[in-house]
Amino acid sequence: MKLGFIGLGAMGKPMAGRLAGAGRELYVYDVQKGALDELETRGAKICRSPEEVGRAADIIFLSLPNSAIVKSVVAGENGVLAGVQEKKCIIDLSSVDPTTTRALAAQAGLKGVEYLDAPVSGGVSGAEAGTLTIMVGGPEAAVNKVMSILEILGKNIRHVGDTGAGDAVKIVNNMLLGANMASLAEAMVLGRKLGLSGEVMHEIIGSGSGKSYVLDAKLEKFIMKGNFTPGFAVDLQYKDLGLAADAAKNEQMPLPMTSQAMQLFEMARARGYGREDMSAVIKIWEELMNVEVRENR
Ligand code: NAD
Repeated sequence: MKLGFIGLGAMGKPMAGRLAGAGRELYVYDVQKGALDELETRGAKICRSPEEVGRAADIIFLSLPNSAIVKSVVAGENGVLAGVQEKKCIIDLSSVDPTTTRALAAQAGLKGVEYLDAPVSGGVSGAEAGTLTIMVGGPEAAVNKVMSILEILGKNIRHVGDTGAGDAVKIVNNMLLGANMASLAEAMVLGRKLGLSGEVMHEIIGSGSGKSYVLDAKLEKFIMKGNFTPGFAVDLQYKDLGLAADAAKNEQMPLPMTSQAMQLFEMARARGYGREDMSAVIKIWEELMNVEVRENR
């Protein structure tokens, strides 16, 4: 079975690397040439368009920034659908909205091509280690056919429902991630103002009831080092909070916590931190309060 991979960014590159490392014939495409070179040295074949990937590979993975880009890569000019033939399968690992997914799955279906939404959780380290959680939406038979390939990428792989259900779980997960990050940023800066060091807060809260994924994943590795190279970019987390806001709007459901968190991410984008790791939102409070959590005082 020949594999394709489109979108070799923070997540896509290590995932594609794992597929190449597993000895699979792999065809890759990205708009940034630099992203492709490393995969080429690992034996992957570089394609000139998504269409070419669609023609060459049987299973085509996507790991792209947002719904609009996924739509153009799949169904636009020189898109994957222009190259694929029936019985192939497109697996979208990106975090996008379920409506776009359902529309693309219907278009793919007209060509006899399976389409699965399979967003991931676990960050760049999970992508490198092959320990991602993958939440898959789509027909069960199609999911079963690609399970052994998904197992190269993730440890916890769940078929969560029909087309779009994977996207829905991911939206709910990431609205919590964004709100937790916004809370952590406030809490750490207040703690610093109260004279606590980042190390003490990490040690005590890390074994207390305030513990969270973001405390473990973001405090030591990013905030305490003052290094905000992503990781998971502010822009992408902002996009995910927007997906939750849009979904809630359709359901006429208010989301006060999510809206508050979104404003903080908007502030970070306005300050020019959009391409930095999501933990860079802490700089908004550090700048406002004239303090840095990583200061060792
Ligand atoms: P990224 O911005 O690092 O990578 C995206 C890649 O897509 C880039 O290499 C970019 O050049 C490429 N790209 C953009 N437009 C393209 C096009 N038209 N054709 C081909 N390639 C194109 O993003 P990422 O952090 O790797 O995230 C990818 C997806 O996974 C996003 O939907 C994100 O929300 C999701 N996600 C990210 C993380 C994380 O920790 N970074 C975790 C879980 C899910």
